[in-house]
Amino acid sequence: MPFKDLSHTEIWIIGTTMFILRYILIAGLFFYILYVWKKTKFSKLKLQKEYPRSSQIRREVLYSLLTFVIYGSGIWLVLFWIEDGQTKLYTEIDEYGIIYFFASIIFMLLIHDTYFYWTHRLIHHSKLFKYVHKVHHSFKSPTPWASFAFHPLEAIISLGIIPIIIFLIPVHILALFLFVTFLTLYNVIIHLGFSIPGLNQLKYSNTPDAHDYHHLNSKSNYGLYFTFWDKIMGTHHIE
Ligand SMILES: [Zn+2]
Ligand SMILES: [Zn+2]
Repeated sequence: MPFKDLSHTEIWIIGTTMFILRYILIAGLFFYILYVWKKTKFSKLKLQKEYPRSSQIRREVLYSLLTFVIYGSGIWLVLFWIEDGQTKLYTEIDEYGIIYFFASIIFMLLIHDTYFYWTHRLIHHSKLFKYVHKVHHSFKSPTPWASFAFHPLEAIISLGIIPIIIFLIPVHILALFLFVTFLTLYNVIIHLGFSIPGLNQLKYSNTPDAHDYHHLNSKSNYGLYFTFWDKIMGTHHIE
């Protein structure tokens, strides 16, 4: 395993810092382009007319940082499972080949989309919503910084995808890293608050338009990357 010479505490500190830096880099880049640098140029693609107040952005960032501290703490558990030999993580690409390496990333996205859709519907249940998911929906007009702005309970639920994947299918450590980076990127994209015309042309991809509408009305568009489940379950809705 990489980092085998580091202590668990060192891995935890490095891991949490990397999670936060990756989020700041991706969300910050989109935020800077759309809300600051090219604000006028892209204003016609803004999904809701009003731009967020700085107090909203501050709350989005603080809740997201809390989420990444919780994600970072999950490293302890993953390290325990790895050392105990319980996971299907592997480190030699040759073990399953390069085709499987890329296929495993697709599998992870499909498994995660399913996990996300159904846990998302669960936390919209009236008995759970106010305790778990209300924080994320307090951002009616989300910005890229809202992508991980969760109540701690929602952060823990969202983290559940990691044990499911590493216990279920063989995954190379780099494939897992690429998957989580894509997850971060795509989650930021659906929270842009701006439409991406090219993305709207793809038949099964979730879009900022669909997720922005979800933040407004809560009754449709529960998916993350794709619209398969929304279409199957009749919850797909575009204005
Ligand atoms: Zn959202
Ligand atoms: Zn929701």
